[in-house]
Amino acid sequence: MGIRPGLQNRASGAGGDSHPHTFSRSIGGGTAESVPGRYEPGRGRSESPFRSDFGAIFSGRLVAVSRTRRQLKRRTFLTGSLVLAGLGFAGCPSSKPSGRLRGQRKDPDYPQGHRLREPDFPSAPTRQERLAGVILGGGVAGLSAGWRWTRAGLTDYRLLELESQVGGNSRALTYPSGSAPIGAHYLPVPNTEARAVRRLLTEMGLLTTEKDRPGLDPRHLCHSRQERLFYEGEWRDGLIPHQALSEVSQEQIARFQEHISQWSRRRDSKGRKVFALPLHFSSTEEQYLALDRISFAQYAKRMGWDDPFLLWYLNYACRDDFGGSLENCSAWAGLHYFASRDGGGLGDADDILVWPEGNNRLVKFLQGEQKGQIHPGSLVLEVVPSENGVTIDYLELATGERVRLQAEVCLFCLPSFLRPYLLKDQPTLDRFLYAPWLTANLELTSPPEDLEGPGFTAWDNVLYDSTSLGYVVSTHQHLTTAPNQPTVWTWYHPFPDEAPEVVRKTLLETQWEDWSQRVLGELEVVHADIRERCRRLDITVLGHGMIRPSVDFIWSGQMARARRPQGRLFFGHGDLSGMSLFEESQFRGVLAAEQALAVLGMEPDESFL
Ligand SMILES: Cc1cc2nc3c(=O)[nH]c(=O)nc-3n(C[C@H](O)[C@H](O)[C@H](O)COP(=O)(O)OP(=O)(O)OC[C@H]3O[C@@H](n4cnc5c(N)ncnc54)[C@H](O)[C@@H]3O)c2cc1C
Repeated sequence: MGIRPGLQNRASGAGGDSHPHTFSRSIGGGTAESVPGRYEPGRGRSESPFRSDFGAIFSGRLVAVSRTRRQLKRRTFLTGSLVLAGLGFAGCPSSKPSGRLRGQRKDPDYPQGHRLREPDFPSAPTRQERLAGVILGGGVAGLSAGWRWTRAGLTDYRLLELESQVGGNSRALTYPSGSAPIGAHYLPVPNTEARAVRRLLTEMGLLTTEKDRPGLDPRHLCHSRQERLFYEGEWRDGLIPHQALSEVSQEQIARFQEHISQWSRRRDSKGRKVFALPLHFSSTEEQYLALDRISFAQYAKRMGWDDPFLLWYLNYACRDDFGGSLENCSAWAGLHYFASRDGGGLGDADDILVWPEGNNRLVKFLQGEQKGQIHPGSLVLEVVPSENGVTIDYLELATGERVRLQAEVCLFCLPSFLRPYLLKDQPTLDRFLYAPWLTANLELTSPPEDLEGPGFTAWDNVLYDSTSLGYVVSTHQHLTTAPNQPTVWTWYHPFPDEAPEVVRKTLLETQWEDWSQRVLGELEVVHADIRERCRRLDITVLGHGMIRPSVDFIWSGQMARARRPQGRLFFGHGDLSGMSLFEESQFRGVLAAEQALAVLGMEPDESFL
């Protein structure tokens, strides 16, 4: 998941900096519209073998099918799956656990986190300390803030993290054959405006300048094949199966790509990009912000985009980057997904950096710089800002002690939904909706059989018309001549259409057994021997995985208010951008850190942003 594919193949028709041709009729109005008859990805095509049965899996209705199915020839096997789909059974596990499969839930520490709902903590601190600064939360945002402080010479700070490891959604799991991400798994080649990302990559030795030309270390650029799509019974290169699509579809996709190409080149009256990354640098002219007040589905309808494959593709983008859908993400966010990245002179717009452990590579670097300051196992309980400083109480999980810190400045790099639990008198945050995710890490003794041939995969393997997004392969970058090495895959499942709070509750109640069988049942359709090869399968539920860029959210007054500092407390979680991306979390963390440095009289000569 995760690439903005095929844009380098865009038709490069006339236009230069011209206005996207239909833009004038694409915004304004604002009446509620939706894609006709609600978008159905597989309409007009054969039933998908992956059709989900969300209710069935949660009610534990597991369907056992004879193991002999796996011995069928591939074509017969797929036909069999189609029949099951027709009966409404697809998406359910097709056989019982083999008995040797191991694995467990690797969720964040929900039992500790949920204690904030009904506090049972000691009311008085047993210890008090004074510090210049405190950072709350050790995800990318908090770690980036600490990185900025360290670079400014501020080391008298503490970073409080609930989990035993920092990283948040960019954590990784370690297996004998290597590490694999539980969530964030790639970093796009940074745009020129992503200055902090470029600085970080330079410090890591991944971005170097030779003969005045900056370049990325090619070992970390995703090798070919970046992605493939399982579409109508076959794997196809890339995410757009041109050869399998009708001329009408192809023509509409070409028009869409040209449209996006024009948006990428578009500059506002001040010369700013319309869609920049970090999004802070985007144009704030009203004509563009109006795109945030309609859904991507409305925009698609106005553009006349009605081809089923194109609509699948747009919906995929929303599921992939936002855990949302065409209907519940804004047009601004949807267009940003496709048009914001330009390779920044370092590569193509869709070039990405990948590591076996995903973005945990970046986390490890940031962490290495501030080991002495990071305090894992610390549950933040209460934050009280004032004119002169901030008082922070936290629970030291190892000792059960309540500790109080008096800080001159504090950075709140925790998700904003926690504010009502930790702070008094907060602004309304009812537009902060978080998309739940479930991911699975499959440790395989060797790559399973593949419809394309033994050992064939891409880095990103997407299943058309599945409720999952498919999987990424942690060993993709290995330059081995022996392809049958053990590997770890990460499989991704968003829940774009269901109410997030209902999904969260259900996911917490669902057992590892149910989900592990569901994952294997789906993958078995494309890898017949997956059960034999899978020796371990871990499941992670990220209940508030991604902030969702709903209609009228990113550029709303509510968002602007949520970003405002409160006394000497500065807010820096990635959700304050309205979309969950490394670039955004890093930007928010560094911005909060620099705001606090100014208050401390340590204003840096040069901003990292
Ligand atoms: C499934 C999935 C896939 C993703 N893939 C990508 C990708 O490929 N590329 C990309 O750029 N982005 C991706 N993202 C987005 C990712 O979330 C961001 O890139 C980034 O990791 C978010 O960092 P953050 O610091 O803003 O938030 P978080 O990761 O949410 O960090 C918040 C931290 O606060 C801690 N915390 C929470 N409560 C408390 C408390 N009371 N006390 C102390 N600590 C607490 C948490 O444990 C956590 O470490 C993905 C997200 C998900 C869910």
